[in-house]
Amino acid sequence: MKTKAAVLYEHGKPLVIDELELDSPKVREVSIEYRAAGLCHTDLSLINGVARMCPLPCVPGHEGAGVVREIGPAVTTVKPGDHVLLMWVPVCGRCYYCLRGQPYLCAEKDKNRGGAMPDGTYRLRKGRRTVHSMMGVGSFSEYNVVAETCVLPIDPSIPFDIAAIAGCGVITGVGAVINKAKVKPGNSVAVLGAGGVGLNVIQGAVLSNATKIVAIDILDNKLELAKVFGATHVINASKEDPLKKAFEITNGIGVDYAFEAVGSAETTLTAYQLIRRGGSVVIVGVPDLDAKLTLPLAEIPVMEKSILGSFYGSGDIRSELITLLELYKAGRINLENLITNRYRLEEINNGFKDLEAGKNARGVIIYE
Ligand SMILES: [Zn+2]
Ligand SMILES: [Zn+2]
Repeated sequence: MKTKAAVLYEHGKPLVIDELELDSPKVREVSIEYRAAGLCHTDLSLINGVARMCPLPCVPGHEGAGVVREIGPAVTTVKPGDHVLLMWVPVCGRCYYCLRGQPYLCAEKDKNRGGAMPDGTYRLRKGRRTVHSMMGVGSFSEYNVVAETCVLPIDPSIPFDIAAIAGCGVITGVGAVINKAKVKPGNSVAVLGAGGVGLNVIQGAVLSNATKIVAIDILDNKLELAKVFGATHVINASKEDPLKKAFEITNGIGVDYAFEAVGSAETTLTAYQLIRRGGSVVIVGVPDLDAKLTLPLAEIPVMEKSILGSFYGSGDIRSELITLLELYKAGRINLENLITNRYRLEEINNGFKDLEAGKNARGVIIYE
């Protein structure tokens, strides 16, 4: 069949709205009619060429939700007509990590980072040229074929745009707080970067009953949004010293947990300086591959400071996502206000301009 898609042919150039050929799903694969796709910073890094996790040409987009149209042989968990959200970490259930309760580290994801199906082949083409699907999801296409391990059936009452964003920034931010840091009632939390992930760190801190939640960013519009999501204090680091202010807020002690959601060595160092003795930095933002960090090493044992990494929510991905959508239905987490703009597929390059300009918590493509 044919599908309309936004294709990346060259790094640093706008996406091209093009018509591609799509094959039918093979064993343990499903075809999806996407209804919504999130515009994430990771897509922008791929488009700009800063991160090159997918060979070109490529259909970017790793946040999506839609309807199952067709299933390949041996598919057992979904059927045509099911509403699903996409997970960009497939959960194979059989690898070293899955068997040890760490499905977010599943070894299968090493394969789909190259934009191929788990069997190493491809379903999208332009003429005779293979087109890769970013992270095995490729949601900037009206239709695509994905591995069964990447889809989660959802309650059809949940809007597609809400489901699409749950599968990336929401699980990453909330999960880092609950599963990795295990923030407790009364703890103090700082968040560096109040974008799509940082706002969800704030939501996780609210769910954990943290009493001081300090959002740090350099844009006032993002800090205003941080307050909507539950930040008790905000610091504009372009106007005031975040260290001085955060120590004032915590009576000179420092915070229990600092979450780095920018992905830079500079903000990670600030996060490290913000934590109290015995505190932890949780790195959620993904820096460039060549980024290096220099730290005052003696503080790690002497002050018992910890540095933790958190990837894709650090939990049981499927049950975490089901829980997050239940929390959304119960009004306990705010997903509506994460979506700041909606675009048609043809407007996708404007959506990325808005993201780059700091206007979007999340922009979402809506397929009509
Ligand atoms: Zn994302
Ligand atoms: Zn696995």
